[in-house]
Amino acid sequence: MDKQECYEYVGVLHVHTKYSDGSGSIKKIVKEAKKAGLDYVIISDHNNIIAKKDGAERWHDNVLLLVGEEIGIKRTEHYLAIGIDETIEPDNDDYDIRKSIEIVKLQGGFGFIAHPYGINKKQFKLKIPVYDYWDDPNYTGIEIWSYMHDWSHNVNLFNIFYYYIYPRKAIDGPPKDILKKWDELCQKRRVTGIGVLDVHAKYIFPFVMFQFLSYRRTFQSIRTHILASSKLSSNLEESKKLLYDCLKEGYCFFADDYIADSRGFRFYAILDDSHLIMGDEYKMPEKVNLVVKTPLPSKITLIKDGKIFIEKDDSCTLTTEVTNSGVYRVEAKIDNKPWIYSNPIYLRENLDT
Ligand SMILES: [Zn+2]
Ligand SMILES: [Zn+2]
Repeated sequence: MDKQECYEYVGVLHVHTKYSDGSGSIKKIVKEAKKAGLDYVIISDHNNIIAKKDGAERWHDNVLLLVGEEIGIKRTEHYLAIGIDETIEPDNDDYDIRKSIEIVKLQGGFGFIAHPYGINKKQFKLKIPVYDYWDDPNYTGIEIWSYMHDWSHNVNLFNIFYYYIYPRKAIDGPPKDILKKWDELCQKRRVTGIGVLDVHAKYIFPFVMFQFLSYRRTFQSIRTHILASSKLSSNLEESKKLLYDCLKEGYCFFADDYIADSRGFRFYAILDDSHLIMGDEYKMPEKVNLVVKTPLPSKITLIKDGKIFIEKDDSCTLTTEVTNSGVYRVEAKIDNKPWIYSNPIYLRENLDT
């Protein structure tokens, strides 16, 4: 994207509704999205896009609600499919997620590997395998940070009550092995990283009707900020295309906005006559100036090819001149708490490889 100035849209992905195992109606979700000041919500129910057929996909005043699908059955990997027009259903128990990922692409959609680190909670009879088909060329990106999976990874039978009451105590950032895998994959091709909720807002019995991980609470937390080259219009198809293109290209960052509002965070590269933003891929020129700006003082880490390149404490800016190709991305922390994760700027030695 040849532009430093852009329009920022804040929203949440991977939201379950009454169309599968979530507790909220579209009306409820839109209400909470408005309260949280979100610009967009992408819902994704298990193995259906009925909400789309029911006309839920549209502007609801100033909130753009879009309908994706979480494809997968119990005991298989899951894929967060976006931009598809027909439901894609896993056909049998020996089902291979790669088939669905390919169908998503054939339908003109795209998507993200959901909870790639798997989940194994015997006490809750929950087992989802670790995703292991990383060479598959058809997925667009990965859920790097997930509210639900931070929570469920930290919970056991002894601490579950504590984490019901204080769910935020479980939010401790993307798993290190997933960040490592992401860095590794980005060496070969662009892979968009996103932050998601995987929220169901279920009611728990039996003592009281207690809702945990509510829409209200989670909508304030892990959000994906999209950086668009033009303004969203009232036209659904145009706006949808703009947001989807940004997600595909990796023109976005994700952050835990409960820590602090990350709106205004920027990571860009200054070339002789243009700019690159996060997500852009470019043949490494002689030199490039990388610029990071955060809306509040934080610990900024510039990562190159998976390794710490420069770190700056308690600062709102980091600038550096680089002369070597590499995949550069940024992390920012406040009080040692994970806050912002950018998508990379890919400065390649050679664009053909
Ligand atoms: Zn899932
Ligand atoms: Zn889910």
